[in-house]
Amino acid sequence: MRLCWEKQSRDANQSAAAQPNWTTPAPSAPKQHQQHHQHNPHHHHPKSHPPHTLIPILIPLSIMTTPIRIAISGGGLAGACLLHALLPHKHLDVHIFESASSFKESGMAVGIARNALSALDLIGPSTAQCLSRAGAVPMRGVRFMLAQGPDAESLISETHENDDITDNEKRVTSIVHRAAFLHELLSGVDPERMHASKKLERYVENPDGSLVLYFADGTIHECDILIGADGIRSTVRRLILGEEDPAAKPRSTGAWCVMTLMPYTEVQKCLGKGFVDVEDAREYMWVGDGSYLIHNVLQQGELVQVVVATHEKEGEVKADRWNRMVGVEEIRGLFKGWPQRLYEAVDQLLCTKDEQPAMYLWEHPPASTYVSGPVCIMGDAAHATSPWQGSGGGMSVEDSMILSTLLGRAETVTQARTALQVYDRVRRPRTQRIVESSRGTGRIACGLGEETGLDLGKLRGKLLPRWDFIVDFDNEKHRDEAVEMFEREVKGET
Ligand SMILES: Cc1cc2nc3c(=O)[nH]c(=O)nc-3n(C[C@H](O)[C@H](O)[C@H](O)COP(=O)(O)OP(=O)(O)OC[C@H]3O[C@@H](n4cnc5c(N)ncnc54)[C@H](O)[C@@H]3O)c2cc1C
Repeated sequence: MRLCWEKQSRDANQSAAAQPNWTTPAPSAPKQHQQHHQHNPHHHHPKSHPPHTLIPILIPLSIMTTPIRIAISGGGLAGACLLHALLPHKHLDVHIFESASSFKESGMAVGIARNALSALDLIGPSTAQCLSRAGAVPMRGVRFMLAQGPDAESLISETHENDDITDNEKRVTSIVHRAAFLHELLSGVDPERMHASKKLERYVENPDGSLVLYFADGTIHECDILIGADGIRSTVRRLILGEEDPAAKPRSTGAWCVMTLMPYTEVQKCLGKGFVDVEDAREYMWVGDGSYLIHNVLQQGELVQVVVATHEKEGEVKADRWNRMVGVEEIRGLFKGWPQRLYEAVDQLLCTKDEQPAMYLWEHPPASTYVSGPVCIMGDAAHATSPWQGSGGGMSVEDSMILSTLLGRAETVTQARTALQVYDRVRRPRTQRIVESSRGTGRIACGLGEETGLDLGKLRGKLLPRWDFIVDFDNEKHRDEAVEMFEREVKGET
């Protein structure tokens, strides 16, 4: 027996949950949903505020079968993937809150690398199927090419070609349109669980450990666990770490990129079939002298993503800059001295307008923790990274796999808190190493690596191996270690 402070409303749920079929999906919104206090006239339960009087009750652990109420703040790829992964666990009552007026992705393509593909498979077949339904194009390989210097147009390295790209071990990466992937992850989710226009501002922990979330529109929601998947400018991160912590906010890496999606035939005409071919789809990354070009086929060969990037010169980095318009002359300047065909392709694909919107690449300094009691952060909220190693989305998938595995095993709120602690322990070292590695990779990829420069031999030795620890990662072992750690902790608790 254990003494808990529970609200009367939880007590009522306790008896409801004691019904033998509590693990089966409720035909209508679960009782906890009523605690999402909408001041919105369309809401179904405007007057169902639970009494907030605290009463002490004795709960034997054996009957603590009340669903664990989980709130996810942020409906980007991380939040959506986690939601998808948690929903099959019927003892978890999950709701997702998004600040925007709808659940949508405005970004372009995202590469789901081998490690993330294996994490998707471990979450379950329905998650992996979302990727194929979203029109993901499995790449036959990735080629790093040198664009400038004495060995210009030489191949630096490439990942192995594989005949069987359906085999997990052999796949390299799949490129998917973000909006399509998000749509698939959220399709079929009960709309009662998805709440748009809900900008989380703060939360308060009740004496019984439950949380009250406060949204910008004046509404509140009660839960046991809050997961901040609210992106690089995360509110939950700031609340966990405290405003004074220098790691609470992101920092600029001083690099920027311009991205565009172009019709396949147009890009193929500019770059040639040798480089753009859906039948032999490969990601190409070109290393220049301070500049970088990447192109890959997506949407089952309808579109090609073209990205150019560079680093601001030292002294010109503006610490607070997220975006700016870049004139075509500046873009052309970056590609002067590149092989003529590539220079012309950039000119034709990116210089048709006077200027293009550029996005600065930001990252998080390493946080001392991703967890505080019943609250944690995941995805970009936890470890926003520069995109040079295409791993931010993949880390979100891995986070979702670990969090859903552990929370799926938690039988009580206390165990759910333990799950968050274990998540922090297993995920922080790996994700922070990736953020660090990605920043360094960005310098090398723009020909600015101190050791490598535009030296073909050195690039061959140093560039591609930087992906080894990211993609050749045993997610199954990672998951099993987390489960073992969780079970040890839970045994220690009881
Ligand atoms: C140029 C570029 C290229 C990239 N390429 C790749 C790649 O190839 N492969 C890869 O794996 N990764 C890539 N990434 C990284 C990847 O895009 C991100 O890691 C991933 O999208 C993060 O998803 P997220 O859900 O954590 O954050 P976001 O997509 O930012 O989602 C956060 C959500 O939270 C919402 N929100 C914010 N504040 C609140 C609040 N207070 N309350 C409620 N909701 C809130 C936002 O509206 C948003 O919908 C790239 C990133 C960039 C910038």
